[in-house]
Formats: sequence, C-alpha cells, structure tokens
Amino acid sequence: MRPLLSLAALAGLPVLAAAQPIAITAARVFDGAGRFLPNATVVVEGRHVRSVGALPAGFRGTRIALGDVTLMPGLIDTHSHLAWYFNKQGRLHQGNDGDTPTESMLAIAGNAWTTLRAGVTTIQSPGSPEDKELRDAIHRGWIAGPRVLTSLGSLSETAGTPDQIRERVRTFKSRGADLIKVFASKSIRDGGAATMTLEQVQAACDEAHRQGLRALVHAHSAEAMNLVSRAKCDQIEHGMLSDQAALDLAAANNVYLDPQCSLVIDNYLQNRAKFEGIGNYNEEGFAAMRNSEAARIGTIRNAVRTKGLKMVFGTDAVAGAHGRNAEELVCRVQRGGQPVADALVSAQSLAAESMRLADSLGTVKAGMLADLIAVPGDVRRDITALLRVRFVMKDGVVYRNDP
Ligand SMILES: [Zn+2]
Repeated sequence: MRPLLSLAALAGLPVLAAAQPIAITAARVFDGAGRFLPNATVVVEGRHVRSVGALPAGFRGTRIALGDVTLMPGLIDTHSHLAWYFNKQGRLHQGNDGDTPTESMLAIAGNAWTTLRAGVTTIQSPGSPEDKELRDAIHRGWIAGPRVLTSLGSLSETAGTPDQIRERVRTFKSRGADLIKVFASKSIRDGGAATMTLEQVQAACDEAHRQGLRALVHAHSAEAMNLVSRAKCDQIEHGMLSDQAALDLAAANNVYLDPQCSLVIDNYLQNRAKFEGIGNYNEEGFAAMRNSEAARIGTIRNAVRTKGLKMVFGTDAVAGAHGRNAEELVCRVQRGGQPVADALVSAQSLAAESMRLADSLGTVKAGMLADLIAVPGDVRRDITALLRVRFVMKDGVVYRNDP
C-alpha cells in the first residue's frame, strides 16, 4: 500500500476521494473575509462545504483532526504564469530551445502541481496559449493543479487602431479566453512608461466588457495607471511606479490593484543566469529591477493606507517562483505594513470577488466550493506559516495532508 500511496502523491493524484462527508477540525478557522473562529469544524460533502462551526450531532463520515493549525480558504493568485519554466539546459524556456512540446507540457503540469501543493487552489494567468489545454486538463481531472482562468495571450500598443483592438479582443474570446490582458506600459526593466493611448486602452476594456470579460492591464508608471482607471478597466497589474494620485484614482474608479512586493523581483535576481541575455533581461534590466525595491514597497505601503482601494493578491510568478507564491504575502505584512487578516482577504474573498467568483470561492461557509488549506499554528502570530502549508483540499478532494 505504501509505495502505491507515494506514487499517487508523486503523480499529483488525490490521496483521499470524497466518497462520504469529511469533518475537518482545527484549532482556528479563518473565514477568508476577516473573521477567525476558535476550535471549529468544517464539514465537506462532495465538492462543497456543508457547515462551519460545531461538529454536527450524529456525524457519520471521515474525520480529519488537524490540531494546532489555521484552516482557511485556498489562496487565489490573480497573476501567475504557469507556462513559464526552466528548460533542460536550466534556462528560461523559449520556443525552439530543444524541449519537445510534450516536455514543455509536463513542465507546465509540474508547475501546476507545485502551485497547488503550496496552497494556491486558483490562479489567473495573463496568459499563454498553453493555458487552454492546462486549464481544461485540470478541470477534467487528468492532472492535479489549481483552477485556472486565462487570457491565453495579450495585446499591446502594436495591436493597432481601436477597431483592430476590438477585433483582437473578440478573437481571444472566441478562442476561449476567460479574461483579457493588456500591456499599457513598458516593463519595469525598460522604465515602465505608458505605451498606449487612452483611446486604445478604452477600446480594449470596453470591448472586453461587451464580451462579458474582465480586462487586466499591465501599468507601472502613474500615467499608465491613470489611463487604466480613466478607461474603467478592471485591474491594474504591478503599479510599481505609482503615486498617491494614481492610487486614489484607481480607488475612485473601483479598479483593483495587483501590486508585487517581492517574489517576482527576488526570483529574477536569484535566478539571474537563467534569464540573462534573453530580451530585456540584461545589465540595465537587472539594475532596474534591483533599484525598484523602494518604489514597489512604497506602492504597497501607500496602497494599504489608501481609502477604498481594493488590493488583490497576485504574484506574477514565473519560472523559479511557482510554489513560492505566499512569499508575496509575507512581504506585504512584514515590509508593506498590511495587517495579516487583510493580506489573507486579498488572497481569498477579495481575490474571488475580483474574478467574479465570490459566490463559490474565497470564503469558508456553507455552500461554497471546498477549497481549504491549513498552515501550522496561528497565522496571526506568524505570517511565515503560509510558507509551511500542510493541508490542501480542492473541490472537496484532499491533495496534501502532512503528518
Ligand atoms: Zn505577468
């Protein structure tokens, strides 16, 4: 039995299928919306949470006693690139680098499993073509991974006139995109200045809305962020070079902000040799990333204090960063000054709301999908507990339950 179990775990197969109700007891449950409940039991039946609170009298089913942990909703990373991986030569994978399409897909499936094991049960990818097969394979249960929403690709200032941009948006929709990704500024490695006109950004976001999709817009400089807010797009990605007026304008327009505190930049610097020499991963690019520290931490600190600003969790995880997603939340609390409960909410109920999935994900209550994770001890006392996830359930299936 033992080797079989290990093989199942290696393959990412569920190690406990939910044939009967499961009662999970924990020293504390965080509901994903701001409340901690001491000594609570979450009963899961099929894919859904049935009750939260005391163990129902006469309960018959499987019991999982997690003990001194914080049980909470699975993390929702609104910006993750599962298709990015290091190839057989240990370099960032690019087309025609000798990896076969099968090897690439296996590497991507590995990233999905690594991400799920780290407690991230839903991701949003902005976005690669491979995401479509990945999303559908996970949905069918072929492989284990987080729920995936994807833009399948992106558009930028080179997409042309407003009419041509609208056409591109409709094409993404027809290919099966769940959202639209727009680049309205340069990369942080190239200074982050605005690249699109207001008319272009408006065309992209308005057409996305007409198609029933949300639009996430990459924008670093305050000027680029303001274009996104004025165009009434849904979410600003990065905003590393923000100013207070840009944060206020985003709040006033109900535009979510998805800033990055540490992980994406730390990972590039730690794995520099694996990226160096590709595109703008050069001397100036790495210097710009290193020098972004004060600005990006400043964005978080100011965003925390900006009234009405909805700051969601998104790591921009690329090759090397998968499974380390929670480092971003540790930075938010330790360096960005965000209260622990707010940081968790940004990765749970608020992230679900931003993805229009709040009626099924992001909170622990009866009727919600059973995406639950547990970390040791009381996360309010030690945010780094998020780096030591020991229990993962998604859709009512246990994928991790460390002794
Ligand atoms: Zn990205």
